[in-house]
Amino acid sequence: MITPDDLVALVRNYNPTCDEALIRRAWDYGARMHDGQTRYSGEPYFTHPVAVASILTEMRLDDATIVTALLHDAIEDTRSTHTEIARMFSPEIAELVDGVTKLTNLQLSSSEAKQAENFRKLLIAMSRDLRVILVKLADRLHNMRTIRSMRPDKQAQKARETMDIFAPLAGRMGMQWMREELEDLAFRVLNPEARNSILRRFITLQRESGDVIARITADIRLELEKAGLDCTVYGRAKKPYSVWRKMQEKDLAFSRLSDIYGFRLIVDDVAQCYQVLGLIHQRWRAVPGRFKDYISQPKSNGYRSIHTTVSGRDGKRVEVQIRTREMHEVAEAGVAAHWAYKDGARTANPFAVDPAKWIATLTERLDSSEDHDEFLEHVKLEMYSDQVFCFTPKGDVIQLPRGATPLDFAYAIHTRIGHATVSAKVDGLRVPLWTRLRNGQSVEIITAEGQRPQASWIELVHTGRAKAAIRRSLREEDRERFVRLGRELTRVAFENLGRRVSDKALDTAARKMGLKGPQDLLARVGSAELSARGVVEQLYPELVAVQTEEIDAARPVVGLEPGQTFRRANCCQPVPGERIVGITYRGKGVVAHAIDCAVLAGLEDQPDRWIDLRWHEGRHPAIHTVALELTISNSTGVLGRVCTLIGEQKANISDLRFLDRKPDYFRIFLEVDVRDAEHLYRILTMLNAENDVAQVIRLRDPTRQP
Ligand code: MN
Repeated sequence: MITPDDLVALVRNYNPTCDEALIRRAWDYGARMHDGQTRYSGEPYFTHPVAVASILTEMRLDDATIVTALLHDAIEDTRSTHTEIARMFSPEIAELVDGVTKLTNLQLSSSEAKQAENFRKLLIAMSRDLRVILVKLADRLHNMRTIRSMRPDKQAQKARETMDIFAPLAGRMGMQWMREELEDLAFRVLNPEARNSILRRFITLQRESGDVIARITADIRLELEKAGLDCTVYGRAKKPYSVWRKMQEKDLAFSRLSDIYGFRLIVDDVAQCYQVLGLIHQRWRAVPGRFKDYISQPKSNGYRSIHTTVSGRDGKRVEVQIRTREMHEVAEAGVAAHWAYKDGARTANPFAVDPAKWIATLTERLDSSEDHDEFLEHVKLEMYSDQVFCFTPKGDVIQLPRGATPLDFAYAIHTRIGHATVSAKVDGLRVPLWTRLRNGQSVEIITAEGQRPQASWIELVHTGRAKAAIRRSLREEDRERFVRLGRELTRVAFENLGRRVSDKALDTAARKMGLKGPQDLLARVGSAELSARGVVEQLYPELVAVQTEEIDAARPVVGLEPGQTFRRANCCQPVPGERIVGITYRGKGVVAHAIDCAVLAGLEDQPDRWIDLRWHEGRHPAIHTVALELTISNSTGVLGRVCTLIGEQKANISDLRFLDRKPDYFRIFLEVDVRDAEHLYRILTMLNAENDVAQVIRLRDPTRQP
C-alpha cells in the first residue's frame, strides 16, 4: 500500500501548489475511521479509498476530489458524519462525500437496458457536482480491478452493473480508457469463455499473418514521412469486449470481422489532421459511410477527432482516428479534463465545447429520448467554425474559410482554374456556384475554355484571394474596353484636324507625356483620364492653339449655302465628330442626319435634296442634345450619382423621366447636351463603369420627327 508521502508526491507532481496538509489530514482521518475494517481479501479496508485516490491522481484532479476519494466510504461505513467532515475539511468536501454516499445507496440492480439508462440519467441528475461521478467511477474501477476482494455472490452482480451502468457512464463522461477497462473487467467476470476465445483468436491470427499492427503502422508512417508530416501512430487490436459486441451486433464470426484493428494518428494542429486524412484517403481506399468529422462537429461531450475506415493490406479494414495531441488528451480524460491540472495549473477550457454548458446539458436534458450513444448529440457546437476543409478529386486538402463556395475552391487551386470555372460538383453532384461548402466534401471544378470571370462572381466568393483575382481580371477587361474606346476617340480627334492617327504618332505622344506606351495612352483616353484633344495637342500644338474659340452654334457645319438654316435631325441626333449628310426641307432648312440614319433610306429617290456636310473642325459648344436610356438598380443614391457623374463631365441634363419602375430596377429616359462625339463617348463610358448602372442605350429613334 502506498504511504501518505507517496500520495502527496503523486498530487504534487501535477499540482505543485496542492494543499499537502489537507491531504495528510484526510488520510489520517480516513485511516482512523476505517481502522479495524478489512476487505474480503483480508487487507485493511482503508487500502481501497487510498487506491481510489491514486486512480484520481492519474486523472490529475484537484485537492477536493482527492480528499473526497479518501473519505468516500466514511459516512456510509463508519461513524463519520456530513457535519463533522464539513467542520474538519470544508462544506465543499462534505457535499462531495455526501454525493458519493447517496450514489452508493441507490439500488442499481436492474439489468434491463432501459432501466440502466434511467439509472445513468439519475446518477448524473443526482450529482450536482460531476466530481462525485468521477470519484464513484474510480471507486467502481478499483472494485472491479480487485473483484476477487468481493464476496463471490456479489461479483456477478457488480460486473453486470458495471457493464450496464458504469462503463456506459464513463463513455458518456468522455473517458474512453475507463469505459474500455470497465467493460473488459466486467466481461472477464460475466463471460470468461468468450473473452478467452477472442484472445486466443488474436494469438492465432498473429501466428498466421504476423504482426499486422506493426506492418500497418510502418505503412502509415512511411506514407506520412513521404509528405514530411510529423505524426505519432498508435496501433492496437480492439478490446475483446468490443470485438465480441460487434460479432453479436452483426451476427458475424470472428474470421469475418474486418475492422479489428484501430489506429490513432496524433498530429500537432487541426490543419494537419485534414492533411493526414487526405494522405490516408489517397493511399488507401476509404470505406463509404465510415467518415465522421467530429472536429468540425464535436460530440456534445467535447470529443473531437476524425474517424475513417480504409481498406488496408489484403482488403482488411482498418479504422483510423486522427486528432491533435490536445484533442487526444481530452478524449482520454473526458469530463475530468475540466478539473485537471496541467503543468501545475488548471487547464483553461480544454474542451471543444463550453464545459459549463456541457455539464448543464448532462444534468438538464435528461428526458430527451435519444439513443444511447447519441445522447445529447443535438447540441450542435462547432469549433473551428471559421474553417472548412475540402478535398480535390485527387485527395488534396484545400482549407477555406467557412462560407466559401466552389468558386473560392477553384481559385484556391489556381487562378487559371478559377477564371475558367463554369460549374462544380460536390460529392459527385452538380451544385450551383453559390453553394456553401461543408467540411469533408470533395469538390470537382468543371472548366471551359473561353470562360471569363463575371462581375457577379464578386458576390459569390468569400476569400480575398478569389475576390482579388476576379477584380484583377475584370479590370483587365475594362482596360481592353478603354483601349478600344480610346482608339476611337483619338481617331476622331485626329480626323477633326485632318490628320491620320498612326501607331508611331501615338508612341511619340505617349513618350512626350511620360506614359508607358500607346496602350497606356489609349486606356487613359478611354477612361477619360486624358482627353483625345490633349493627345493631339502634344503632336500638333499649332493646330489646336488656333481653335480654342468655340464654333458658332448656328452654323457648326461646312457646306451650307448662304441663307440656309441648320438643324440636327431628331431621329438620329448626330453630334460633331460623327459623319453626317444634309437633307433640305422646303428649300431653306437643312437637317443633318447621321450617315447611318434609317430615315435616309426613304430619301434615296430624291437626290436633289442631299447636301454634303461636315462639321467644323475645332471646339463645339456643349449644346448637342442626345437621348439616352438608362437601366439602373433601385438602390439609394444611384440617381444622384448618375447626375453628378454627368455634371462632372461638364454636360447638361436637359430632361429626365422615369420610364418604368420595378422593385429592383428602374429605367430612365435622359437627355444630355454634349459638345461632340468624344464628349458623348466619355459620358457613356463613365456611366457604364458605374456599378449600379446595368445598361446605357443611346436612343436613335427613326420614328421621331426629323
Ligand atoms: Mn468504495
